[in-house]
Amino acid sequence: MTTQKTNDRLDFSYQALPMRVKFGVGSLKQLPSELDALDLKRVLVICSPEQQSTGQMVADALGDRAVGILPEAVMHVPEEAAQSASDKAKELGADGCVTVGGGSAIGLGKAIALKHGLPIIAVPTTYAGSEMTPVWGLTSNGRKQTGKDPRVLPTSVVYDPSLSATLPVGMSVTSGINAIAHAVEALYAPDATPIISLMAEEGVKALTNALPLIVNDPEDLEVRSQALYGSWLCGATLGATTMSLHHKLCHALGGTLNLPHAQTHTVVLPYALAFNQVAAPEAKAALSRALSGAQDPALELWHLGEKLGAPRSLAELGMKQEDIQVIAEEVVGYSYGNPRPIDLESIRGLLTDAWQGNQPKANPGN
Ligand code: NAD
Repeated sequence: MTTQKTNDRLDFSYQALPMRVKFGVGSLKQLPSELDALDLKRVLVICSPEQQSTGQMVADALGDRAVGILPEAVMHVPEEAAQSASDKAKELGADGCVTVGGGSAIGLGKAIALKHGLPIIAVPTTYAGSEMTPVWGLTSNGRKQTGKDPRVLPTSVVYDPSLSATLPVGMSVTSGINAIAHAVEALYAPDATPIISLMAEEGVKALTNALPLIVNDPEDLEVRSQALYGSWLCGATLGATTMSLHHKLCHALGGTLNLPHAQTHTVVLPYALAFNQVAAPEAKAALSRALSGAQDPALELWHLGEKLGAPRSLAELGMKQEDIQVIAEEVVGYSYGNPRPIDLESIRGLLTDAWQGNQPKANPGN
């Protein structure tokens, strides 16, 4: 399906998502009162193995109300991990989950919510944005499945920028560009709305301003606050709209080839945008405003990636050349709205350019 946006008519449908957001340096202190507000007495704290000490710190702050810590979150939520986490939540009699970490921790909390309907309080420490969405993901037999369910949308989100200050610079950059990708696709989404487009533009602006400053001083909490603010906005745009070509490409590359999530988004974004922006003039204009007047937002983001020391090609991320055809066929096989029609040849060209790290262009592979 191809979507066309017109300038001359306001015609949209917007559904606000129910959740509370607490934002600010030190806001982790408000976590116990969030549990009070939801009447939660036995929560399971979920984190990734590398963030066990952060998970422990959160559990300590909750005292008796933390009935366990599950440091088992990994990328793309393998089916077995989801099953074992759901069993654990049931065995402990948990009445809710507190997820501390990036998209992997939230993803595992969502898998439990999907099975047992337990509410989630998310404490995000990356910029991936999953805490703002009713989208779940599960991977089995090398295929990642996603779906939407209101039960997996976190009930509360506590954004404490000081927790993101330990995110390594490389991961901060790629995670930030992952967030920008949500806003980019929200701007030309088939279900784009004026309020979400405003959030998208502001989110891109906040993050593209903050990321170079994070590279200079990763512990500057004002800059970390700007980045997390941008991530909140970009995540909200992801939760409110339907994503297109860029997300389908990353979904296939991550689910089928197990490429790293944020890094893959970072490499692919300029290529997907160069392809789509010629058919999405309003989105291009909004991005241009967000990027200090840049005439070619795709090229600007490509140069920004270089300046920030981000990975430059899919080959660098471990993708093999023969996988270009596999992924192109998978992406052409999905059904989704995109501002510009796609075909196998264009997608193969786009993936080849991204694999080699060539300059992105509107007509890839030529
Ligand atoms: P992640 O959660 O896997 O985290 C990456 C690494 O960074 C982990 O090792 C983690 O321990 C570490 N880390 C996180 N925060 C840290 C901090 N503050 N300090 C030090 N280390 C820290 O990565 P991610 O990119 O946040 O999430 C990726 C996953 O989220 C993917 O599976 C993706 O599909 C999913 N996702 C889902 C949605 C959705 O709406 N459902 C949206 C975005 C991402």
